[in-house]
Amino acid sequence: MLSETVDHSHALAIQHFGMDEARRLARVGEANVAEMLAFLAERGIACEWEPTGRLMVALTDGHVEECHRNLAIAQELGITGWRYLSADEVRAEVHSPLYRGALAVSRGGICNPARLTDGLRAEAVRQGVRVYERSVVRAIEEEGRQLRVRSAAGGSLVAGHVVLATSAYTHHLLPRVLRRFIPLYDYIMVSEPLSAAQWQAIGWQKRQGITDGRTFFNYYRPTADGRVLWGTSEAAYHGPNRVDPACDHSPGHYASLEAGWKRHFPDAADLRWEYRWGGAICSTTRLTPFFGRAFENRLSYGLGFTGHGLGSTRIAGRILAHMALNRPGDVLSLPLVTQPPFPYPPEPLRGWAVNAVTRALRQVDEGRPPNLMLRALDRLGIGFVGWARGFTAETQRRGGRRGPARHSGAVSRRARRPGV
Ligand SMILES: Cc1cc2nc3c(=O)[nH]c(=O)nc-3n(C[C@H](O)[C@H](O)[C@H](O)COP(=O)(O)OP(=O)(O)OC[C@H]3O[C@@H](n4cnc5c(N)ncnc54)[C@H](O)[C@@H]3O)c2cc1C
Repeated sequence: MLSETVDHSHALAIQHFGMDEARRLARVGEANVAEMLAFLAERGIACEWEPTGRLMVALTDGHVEECHRNLAIAQELGITGWRYLSADEVRAEVHSPLYRGALAVSRGGICNPARLTDGLRAEAVRQGVRVYERSVVRAIEEEGRQLRVRSAAGGSLVAGHVVLATSAYTHHLLPRVLRRFIPLYDYIMVSEPLSAAQWQAIGWQKRQGITDGRTFFNYYRPTADGRVLWGTSEAAYHGPNRVDPACDHSPGHYASLEAGWKRHFPDAADLRWEYRWGGAICSTTRLTPFFGRAFENRLSYGLGFTGHGLGSTRIAGRILAHMALNRPGDVLSLPLVTQPPFPYPPEPLRGWAVNAVTRALRQVDEGRPPNLMLRALDRLGIGFVGWARGFTAETQRRGGRRGPARHSGAVSRRARRPGV
């Protein structure tokens, strides 16, 4: 799902960076998607792109209120193309008995990220870029005024500037960056191709990408070959900061995904799931990417795209190009470039904190009020719960930031308010 938001939501952008910067980020995000699509069309990169827009569905009355609040925020930021759908309207489009309303966003859509990556790689090669795949980098070392990059197979190359784009794996090469992020695993399933009767039971003719209003929400979309991709943002932290193939599968997540599907779509409960997997994403305490330099400015890095990297890695690419070439540019003054996110504690406190916040957010999704810890974090500005309800209204009145301008988000791909 390709989204135009650079921050996890416009409300979070206001909370983190203030109203003016949130307006600017909204413009940057819209331009980014438009430029990306123009580029793909110009270079003939086919990636099963469908301009479907997206739906953010409400599963509780609280989510319905949030939809209205988010619509008001979008209007305040000058964003067009957002519309509230009543329960009847959204159920007429996608037939889930759980839906109580929705926000329909006209921009964005769905594409096949593997085809996108292959297409971009092929275009880079056409431009003369040499690509070394299956070549694990083990070390980066200073060599005079340059850097030597050493691979596991014994190969190496020397460069005047290195850009590290290793996302949730970055601590393997640059351990000091770990204080600013945690590696998490997101899990998804893809179904068998649906029969005509199964599609009829679900509707979904406009094929929008869908998320819901919970902290740990489901995200789902149809695929070009007639399947359903069904995922959960209940991302897992495999401590201490593990990112390895042993984390690629989680039977517990798959079981709850299957149960969740049956709750959402009882008329298509018999759908069989042919593929299941997980992947590493990289999260910061404010759920936005961050950037930095090492080796006396000879290395630049950018990471922390959580579950939004399809669009936001493109903006990051521009930022990193400016950093690597040492050229000024508007994007370098974005606060997500100039201000690092609030750090995470080191282990063993990190694992404890992540688990405690996960448990607390799960309770919020079950309909309970935020506990003392979440409220305390929110007061510190590392908020997980106050971002839409009450908080944004208060923030809007103040014209932006709250508290000591610290940030939210730790374990969910999007810090959101209560769910089912
Ligand atoms: C299940 C799942 C669903 C998602 N859904 C969406 C979605 O719908 N929309 C969206 O926008 N985003 C989504 N995301 C998030 C998106 O995939 C990421 O934000 C994006 O891939 C980040 O891009 P990246 O290039 O920074 O990192 P990655 O895609 O993680 O790439 C990092 C690369 O670095 C390589 N690498 C790491 N260490 C080394 C080393 N030492 N030597 C050599 N190579 C190395 C890795 O092999 C990898 O290829 C999803 C992620 C997952 C896991």
